[in-house]
Amino acid sequence: MRILIIEDEVTLNKTLAEGLKEFGYQSDVVETLKDGEYYLDIRNYDLILMDWMLPDGNSIDIIGDIKRNTPKTAVVILSARDDNASEIEALNAGADDYIRKPFDFDVLIARIAARLRFGGSNIIEIDDLIINPEEEKIIYKEKEIELKGKPFEVLTHLARHRDQIVSKEQLLDAIWEEPELVTPNVIEVAINQIRQKMDKPLGITTIETVRRRGYRFCFPKEISN
Ligand code: CA
Repeated sequence: MRILIIEDEVTLNKTLAEGLKEFGYQSDVVETLKDGEYYLDIRNYDLILMDWMLPDGNSIDIIGDIKRNTPKTAVVILSARDDNASEIEALNAGADDYIRKPFDFDVLIARIAARLRFGGSNIIEIDDLIINPEEEKIIYKEKEIELKGKPFEVLTHLARHRDQIVSKEQLLDAIWEEPELVTPNVIEVAINQIRQKMDKPLGITTIETVRRRGYRFCFPKEISN
């Protein structure tokens, strides 16, 4: 489970990240809306915890975009505004939860856990292909495909961004914990595994190589006749 924290109070965002880690959640922390949007573009999150008022704008203004791109990603707003009208405004803007500052940390964790239990799944379903990121499971025509670990994550990321060409660097940033410590050929290895373990036995093509630019998810491929 990965969480993005967008909060400009430095001590608070540190406490949040450390506290969430203790409960087994991985998180990225940014302090501005602009950096938040950057991370949202390159990584997949199960939940976004964001402060309402940020140095470069109001976080509720980007909820619409988040929900359009990844409808199942939960959005939790933190705010010092303690009036009901603000809470209603945030929920109407698409937030899944609203937590007033100051908050009790244990209550926050419980609410995040509850959110992830319900919203949870960002299952991708394309034709006969179902990718379930939570369970690390791929089903094609009701049959489970054995593809796990990094190749699974690469496939999921490309499927999620299927309208675009994704570069090796973007894949490394999105999936590897320490992208600077691996060489880009790990991507080729992962792509190769997807082709060998999935495409070949099933007789389908899921990923195409776009020379010098990266990879694109291309399933189902249009058949011209
Ligand atoms: Ca703030």
